[in-house]
Amino acid sequence: MIPRRLAPGDRLVLASHNPGKLREFSALLAPFGIEMISAGALGLAEPEETAPDFVGNARLKALAAAREAGLAALADDSGFCVAALGGAPGVLSARWAGPGKDFAAAMARVNAALADQADRRAWFTAALSLAWPDGTTATFLGRVDGTAIWPPRGGFGFGYDPMFIPMGSDETFGEMAPDAKEAISHRARAFVQLQAACFTAPATDPAAGQTRS
Ligand code: IMP
Repeated sequence: MIPRRLAPGDRLVLASHNPGKLREFSALLAPFGIEMISAGALGLAEPEETAPDFVGNARLKALAAAREAGLAALADDSGFCVAALGGAPGVLSARWAGPGKDFAAAMARVNAALADQADRRAWFTAALSLAWPDGTTATFLGRVDGTAIWPPRGGFGFGYDPMFIPMGSDETFGEMAPDAKEAISHRARAFVQLQAACFTAPATDPAAGQTRS
């Protein structure tokens, strides 16, 4: 099925209560002129993430928000995966931080689980799902590979960013300015596919004198 497209001026619910994701999506959506309303601002419920994988959880969150709000809804399900831990924390990344959302503790838990393991390969994955109130969905996956380090470094970003160095960089995501992370992140990589399939071409930026992509 050909996904429907959103055009400048259309409204979109972001089905997330995570302030880090809200910040990153508002930067990603800005060039498309699509108005983003947060699930929190609409008082939408947070559905339980019962699917076993990122794609399933992204779809269920997007569908729940689209049906409740009666608007197109975008959801992200993402996580930090460590090779030597069999991909954990993975879909449980938020849960490893506990009810207090303590990511210093979650990172310490990853480090403790790794102990003196030499294999430090890690990656972030993001599934982005765009859903409409009639149940139509379009879902895309992005991934960035790198290394899990200790101790954590940097005050930018959120979640596990301070303990992840993407391949080809010396800095953690926590040390990178937001636009540097946005250039290579798992979320941005999934978003490129989503915008190509589901948004109309971005408006010409008169200041730049060219079409932005
Ligand atoms: P969920 O998608 O709401 O289940 O939560 C995903 C969790 O994965 C977040 O709470 C973060 O802990 C982690 N995560 C996802 N994306 C990122 C990222 O870009 N940086 C750091 N942590 C992330």
